[in-house]
Amino acid sequence: MLDLAIIGGGPAGLTAGLYATRGGLKNVVMFEKGFPGGQITSSSEIENYPGVANIMSGMDLMASWPEQCMRFGLKHNMAEVSRVSKREDGIFEIALLGGEKTEAKSVIICTGSSPKRANFEGENEFFGKGISTCATCDGFFYRNKEVVALGGGDSALEEALYLSHICSKVYLVHRRDSFRASPVTVEKVKNNPKIELILNSTVKQVYGDASGLNGIILLDKDKKERDLAVTGVFVFVGMNVNNSILRQDDGSFLCETNEAGNVIVNLKMHTSVSGLFAAGDIRIDSSKQVVCAAGDGATAGIEALEYVNH
Ligand code: FAD
Ligand code: NAP
Repeated sequence: MLDLAIIGGGPAGLTAGLYATRGGLKNVVMFEKGFPGGQITSSSEIENYPGVANIMSGMDLMASWPEQCMRFGLKHNMAEVSRVSKREDGIFEIALLGGEKTEAKSVIICTGSSPKRANFEGENEFFGKGISTCATCDGFFYRNKEVVALGGGDSALEEALYLSHICSKVYLVHRRDSFRASPVTVEKVKNNPKIELILNSTVKQVYGDASGLNGIILLDKDKKERDLAVTGVFVFVGMNVNNSILRQDDGSFLCETNEAGNVIVNLKMHTSVSGLFAAGDIRIDSSKQVVCAAGDGATAGIEALEYVNH
């Protein structure tokens, strides 16, 4: 039986593993369905991680984390968890997608969040064939071409700036005339000659053929259409909470969540279930920053250690 199962290998999960193993827990497994690193690895630039003065990609920032976090014995199981439940004897069961089950004395949920879809006509049909949620991954395919970035938050504006270094032009489409993104980023976008702002506009549909996307039709607030012949559309319209592994047979969640599905924790990352902790973007009131997720992970790791030892 595991002392601790950590679900998710982003900044929160990795840091939780570092603190729990370095604190002396012996049998700790981090279940991460992909390579460790989390959603920041899809970001082209990060400039606000304390102690890292150089601006670098999310991939570069996270590159050394797994090695450091695994130095003290944390193991990585590259598997997707389908459910976490707790038996009457107080032991947690971790069910994997293939049907395998593992037992653990304590669990830290660090499953973070994933990009939302905007739900316009053709989005699903052309996803991966012109529609993307990752500029770092796919921006290069649109070198010297025109693209659209959709959204008005930090992700949309930062990734529009990144795309402007690669693409000939970026149309930044936002449904309102003011942005959620931080003012410093908004200023950079407004001063970038390669970015054209298309405000108070929504996407009616995208269109294309078997070879991929050929264009996008936008609607302004007077319902006037504008057709842009772009082959790439980058969607940055927010994130979904990855909480499905907490769903039980009767449809309820294993622990208390808020209306948006974020896990309710106290300042020690304790959930409403003893021995179950949550850290990072998944929890209520998360500031959704790498440094905050790592801080949460450290707290949760220390608390899991305390729980298992006592
Ligand atoms: P995540 O990073 O989301 O990691 C969760 C991990 O859990 C993922 O690796 C996922 O594969 C895994 N997982 C999920 N479900 C399962 C399952 N069932 N089984 C196994 N594994 C699972 N923050 C900053 O501080 N500065 C920035 O400049 C910045 N830029 C960003 C740019 C973009 C484009 C995005 C999308 C985010 C950015 N953020 C930034 C936010 C930051 O990335 C997040 O706050 C942070 O990554 C949250 O960490 P986390 O560990 O809680 O979750
Ligand atoms: P976000 O802040 O939730 O912004 C989503 C944007 O998409 C909003 O502007 C929203 O418009 C728009 N939108 C939502 N649904 C839409 C739809 N169906 N069609 C068109 N537009 C739609 O999401 P995010 O930018 O991904 O950021 C997520 C979190 O990560 C935030 O807390 C953010 O601060 C953080 N983050 C931080 C950094 C950084 O620190 N540098 C970088 C990236 C992300 P409205 O504004 O009208 O609602």
